[in-house]
Amino acid sequence: MPSGPIIFSVTKKENLFYVDVKQDEYTAYLSQSMQKPANFAIWHRCLAHTGTDTLQNMIRNKLVDGMNTYGEIALGEMCKDCIFEKHISHPYNGTMVKERDVLECVHIDLWGLVQVQSARDAHYFMAITDGFSLY
Ligand SMILES: [Zn+2]
Repeated sequence: MPSGPIIFSVTKKENLFYVDVKQDEYTAYLSQSMQKPANFAIWHRCLAHTGTDTLQNMIRNKLVDGMNTYGEIALGEMCKDCIFEKHISHPYNGTMVKERDVLECVHIDLWGLVQVQSARDAHYFMAITDGFSLY
């Protein structure tokens, strides 16, 4: 027979299982955390690289039972995983020189063959943008 508090129950109706969470207890549970404290960086990684402010709020206000920590409540250094994985693109390595006049630099994007042709039967598209005016 299991011991400890019941935090949810499951009932089956036809072919679906319905989870009934006790709404009077707004508590998050983490396994193993009550036995072994972890520092801020480990919690950051364990909780899917949660934002620093959110994680600090969780710890300082004791929002999660069993979330034992030690050490400083901050990341000691920037998280490399967050830097590389949360950016859409990597920064340019070189410097960018801004155009000073119209038609000094023209950017052309050509793409195709598209599977669905345009209203005028085009299968390729080309966008031409002036680097100075952005038209
Ligand atoms: Zn991270």
